[in-house]
Amino acid sequence: MTSRADEIRERLDVVRERIAAACRTCGRASGEVSLIVVTKFFPASDVRILADLGVTDVAENRHQEAVDKSAECGDLALRWHFVGGLQSNKASAVTGYASVVQSVDRAKLLRPLARGAADRGRVLDVLVQVSLDGPDSEHRSGVAPDDLAGLADAVASHDDLRLRGVMAVAPLGADPGEAFDHLARLHLSVLADHPDATWRSAGMSGDLEAAVARGATHVRVGSAVLGSRPPVQ
Ligand SMILES: *Cc1c(COP(=O)(O)O)cnc(C)c1O
Repeated sequence: MTSRADEIRERLDVVRERIAAACRTCGRASGEVSLIVVTKFFPASDVRILADLGVTDVAENRHQEAVDKSAECGDLALRWHFVGGLQSNKASAVTGYASVVQSVDRAKLLRPLARGAADRGRVLDVLVQVSLDGPDSEHRSGVAPDDLAGLADAVASHDDLRLRGVMAVAPLGADPGEAFDHLARLHLSVLADHPDATWRSAGMSGDLEAAVARGATHVRVGSAVLGSRPPVQ
């Protein structure tokens, strides 16, 4: 193995152990939490190393980067998740590589996503991203909690889309535990109408323990596995 592969393997082991420990702490089975490695900014060669190490799910947040990287890794049996901001004119193209779009935050995206999935003869898995920011903070990505139910219903109304659950990012500077408690309440309200929408995607490198403790089914971990990214996004 090259040294980069050794480094990734060591970091991945640490993250897998963190997830397992967090599960033990709250009495969950470690199989209940899926690890998605966020590979944005990192090369296809790293994705290849991850696949060798048994990673099954990777995520990207920029469309063009994801197009290129997924094409370079076309021989690998990986599930690609899209977790970034999406323009409606690109949404249909995202279904060319993504099996899951986690960042659906407005109804305008649904038609192009459904059309892209239908053109490819597939059903696209969708998570609705909900904003956990307080009412006074700057707008960040995610639908406002008051509009979550309506957007979830709209996703579910498309035959080519499958509503899988919800996704959120803990607000900067906030207590992630409180944020993920809030997400848990919002998710339960979605589940009341959509009992199959069982995925709760929450938790990143810095707060995955807090997310696992509050019922995350998927954690999205980038820097803890691959190292720090350049600061500018
Ligand atoms: C980059 C990113 C992550 C991973 O963040 P890390 O702190 O590097 O683990 C998770 N979720 C989303 C939506 C991201 O954009």
